[in-house]
Amino acid sequence: MSLFATRLRLAASPDAIKDLSFACTRRSLHRGSSNFPVSSRAHGRAFSASGGSDTTSSKTDTAPLDMASGPVNGFQMNQYVIACTATRQAAIVDCGASSRQELNAFLKWMTERDYQLTAVWQTHAHLDHIAGLGLLSTTSTDDDTDVSSSDVPIYLHPNEREIYKSFPQRCQDFGFTVEGGTDTLPSHDDLTYFTPDQTTMTLGNLTFDIIPTPGHSPGQVGFLLSASSSSEPPIFLGGDFIMQGSIGRTDFPTSSPQDMDASLKRFVEIMDEKTVIYPGHGPPTTLEREKQANPFLQPFL
Ligand SMILES: [Zn+2]
Repeated sequence: MSLFATRLRLAASPDAIKDLSFACTRRSLHRGSSNFPVSSRAHGRAFSASGGSDTTSSKTDTAPLDMASGPVNGFQMNQYVIACTATRQAAIVDCGASSRQELNAFLKWMTERDYQLTAVWQTHAHLDHIAGLGLLSTTSTDDDTDVSSSDVPIYLHPNEREIYKSFPQRCQDFGFTVEGGTDTLPSHDDLTYFTPDQTTMTLGNLTFDIIPTPGHSPGQVGFLLSASSSSEPPIFLGGDFIMQGSIGRTDFPTSSPQDMDASLKRFVEIMDEKTVIYPGHGPPTTLEREKQANPFLQPFL
């Protein structure tokens, strides 16, 4: 039994563990860290994200993208902050923090670097990925953070709306608790849904492609920042799509194994294999590495 499942067992019923734990072949997991979020310091420095220390250097200060990540809540969901260093605009990708302490670590990271939170981008609406939205919506200026977050737009694919609406019930089903309660999420009517013809998201000077990857969840997307030079890899924030040695589960009632297969096939066909994948769980990886070692990708190579 993995550490991940063991941790879950403390907080949830056995049935819940079966339902939300992640696939079987995943070998390594983020451990909870007292110094999260861990800064990855920018485009092209991807793998320092799992290194456990903030490796600031003068060179990376000029990189267009700055990033931080850390595992949050009982499911060790990787919450990310991405920031445009030129304009100081920042976005949270998957706001899953289930306590104010977890959330404030990210807000503080932004404050210390003079980043302004301008949006939340959701890969999908499973409970471990959205648990912090209620806390975020009630956070205002405090001693540690001067990030005003109460009215930032929250972006989500429209096919995730029903899952989003079921959050309180799902929390009850899984014995999942959130500081401040599970009924504090912004209304689904107040979210900003991707439009049918929307293919990009803008953060300051940076443009990310929205890559639909349905399967694990009907409206899951990933956010791709293409390489700005030949020496830098593309960066993909993918949620529960491709993880190191595994993929997101497809046995939920709202999942589709067929859609997942199509998403995987398309992804391996169109993506640069140097692409660095920042998944919803576990350490970063590359498409190249997953093509070599991930059994779920082998049928599509
Ligand atoms: Zn999920």
